Amino acid sequence: MAIFPIRSPEVLPRGLQRLIAAMPESNHMVTKTNDRRIRAFLIIAAVLAFPRQASAAIAESWPLPPRRPAEAPLHPAPHDTAPGEQAEPKPSIDQACLDRLRAAGIEFEMVTLPPAPKPGCSIETPVRLKAVIFAPRWKTSIHLPDEPTLSCRFGERFGHWLRDLVAPLIAGELGVELKSVRTGPGYECRNRAEAGKISAHASGLAADVVSFELANGRTLPIKPNDDEHLRATVDAIRVAACGWFTTVLGPGSDAAHADHMHVDSLQHGSSDRYRICL
Ligand SMILES: [Zn+2]
Repeated sequence: MAIFPIRSPEVLPRGLQRLIAAMPESNHMVTKTNDRRIRAFLIIAAVLAFPRQASAAIAESWPLPPRRPAEAPLHPAPHDTAPGEQAEPKPSIDQACLDRLRAAGIEFEMVTLPPAPKPGCSIETPVRLKAVIFAPRWKTSIHLPDEPTLSCRFGERFGHWLRDLVAPLIAGELGVELKSVRTGPGYECRNRAEAGKISAHASGLAADVVSFELANGRTLPIKPNDDEHLRATVDAIRVAACGWFTTVLGPGSDAAHADHMHVDSLQHGSSDRYRICL
């Protein structure tokens, strides 16, 4: 009957090793067979008598699965999934979207976000947008100094909107190139300003445009106070944005958007053609 996979007395405590070693090899009263049986009996007896020491010794010479650390927390960490709660699906990577971004001249870098602090905050193919390169006839790119973190497909739409609509409209109205756009951070794991539902920012499908900085050094804020021409230019950008995004909010929509223009591509209802532009 095999009790423990003991291969040698060396795994036993030193005192027992000495005791076994002192067994009379030349004892004329016991045969070699009896000698081996007695030694085996003593080994087994020693193991039973000193289970802890034997276990430790065996562990040194016999591979065992790793043990749970003694200091491992008994309770789940705050970000662990509670029993019965669905784990957040791991965000997938949309390689085709990344390829389109590169082909369109939209500068970005991929980012790895830490685990979402609450359910509902999940961003697909997160990218940090840095700039949108103009067509060759333009002197500069449109820079995004806030480097907003966006879902790739929203970043694609946002970049095209800046280059294909905002920049030409500003150039046509004000006769100056668009140099950069202040946007805020893009991705934010939070609820909407009016509380309740999770914000489109929590999916990386929204950006907040604060101002347009122009090549002549001037800034075109989303809420220009005294210049009617500037106000008309911003209004034209805002109205046109409703063809690019599903939600456009800004000054006059509510108190939360008094100084910036929020654009997102969250689907409202069953149709992606439904718009909320206030
Ligand atoms: Zn917003």
